[in-house]
Amino acid sequence: MTTDGAPADGPHQGPGPAANPLGHGPVLLLAGARLADGRIVDVRISGDRIQAVAAAGGLGPLPALPGGPTATTGARIDLTGYLLLPAPAEAHAHYDLAFSAAPAPPPPGAPALPATTPQSAAELTRRVTEAALTSLGYGATAQRTHVRIGGAGGLGRLEAVLTARQALRGLAELQTVAVPRLLTGLAGADGRARLREALKLGATAAGGCPELDPDPAGYVQVLVEAAGEADCPVDLHTQGGDPVALGRLAAALAPLRPRVTLGPCSALGAPGPALLADAGIRVVCLPQNGCCTGIEGRPTGLRPSLVAELAKAGIAPAAGSGSLRDAANPAGRADPLEAAYLLAAGGALDLEAAYDAVANQARAVLGLPPVRIDAGFPAELLAVRGDSLAGALAGGHSRLVVHSGRVVSRTSAVREFADTVALALPRQGASG
Ligand SMILES: [Zn+2]
Repeated sequence: MTTDGAPADGPHQGPGPAANPLGHGPVLLLAGARLADGRIVDVRISGDRIQAVAAAGGLGPLPALPGGPTATTGARIDLTGYLLLPAPAEAHAHYDLAFSAAPAPPPPGAPALPATTPQSAAELTRRVTEAALTSLGYGATAQRTHVRIGGAGGLGRLEAVLTARQALRGLAELQTVAVPRLLTGLAGADGRARLREALKLGATAAGGCPELDPDPAGYVQVLVEAAGEADCPVDLHTQGGDPVALGRLAAALAPLRPRVTLGPCSALGAPGPALLADAGIRVVCLPQNGCCTGIEGRPTGLRPSLVAELAKAGIAPAAGSGSLRDAANPAGRADPLEAAYLLAAGGALDLEAAYDAVANQARAVLGLPPVRIDAGFPAELLAVRGDSLAGALAGGHSRLVVHSGRVVSRTSAVREFADTVALALPRQGASG
């Protein structure tokens, strides 16, 4: 018997026609998908937008396109058994550190691995690309990664990320946050120069951790000036445990609002949530409890009550993954549904708010418009095997990802059991 949670009418072969739908024409019809509100719909996509949504069967065949009979008319993908959602986004990652956790020990008798492996620019680019594709496979069509600048490495790590960003164009949108270590005094001269260079080179946002600079207020002042000159957002690391310092930080960042994000804020206490809500500052939490090795030098934590307090104060928190198998969290995953699951399973948010944290709230952190499955909205979509949001968060492994109106990734999970197990699977409630 073979199943990945498909209905009992046979093994699931993945969504859509037998032909590979990746690389279809300019029009795409997603047929028979279930929405979170229970409706079964067809969704027609034209270009990078949702063109129409109607009850299943209500949109007719794909329209003929200008250009005669040789024109590509697009693809129809059967999403029966799939839940269609706005695509998630990765709000906080460290892709240049991804997969850097200590490797498995060599077999007995094999030569020991070197303690450290020098990284070329090409290796860094490959690592970042692999991390971004991992996240994309889970559904994150837009991603933001923080990268260290300055010191002996100069802008090398940023350049590697920007090369990966270029290679990923058309598959996913990759944003970068330039992270200088120091920005004040004589020791901060290099950081100040590199920050401005990084923003000119193409970094999306200015970031860092003010608490690591001997003069946190001075750090933020330099950052605000540089971001103002470059007209870019700010995305800072802070634990937020000192309400007085947090108040000063919020006031200093006022000129850049609303394009200000703080995270992971794991030490935030009263009156922190209300203070940030009043200041109009976005918050990214990291439910997987890890990021920033080499930046903060310690793992971060997430109190479910903190997220609930943020929501109560009027902040709809975003959630990111943080670590992807690096030293801060060797088991870290880049699956937004995992982050949403942790928020929901921990009781911090209800199912809808938990998914919103990794979807439209994460997109807002990235400065991207919201997605709804309705005409006119961006065609940034994730189809997950399942019949409900709860089922998707509980274990939706089979997925289809649409970015900018194009199917960019498909994962088809197959689970097998021994033939001796005679078991009729229910049609509803199965996962996969
Ligand atoms: Zn971080």
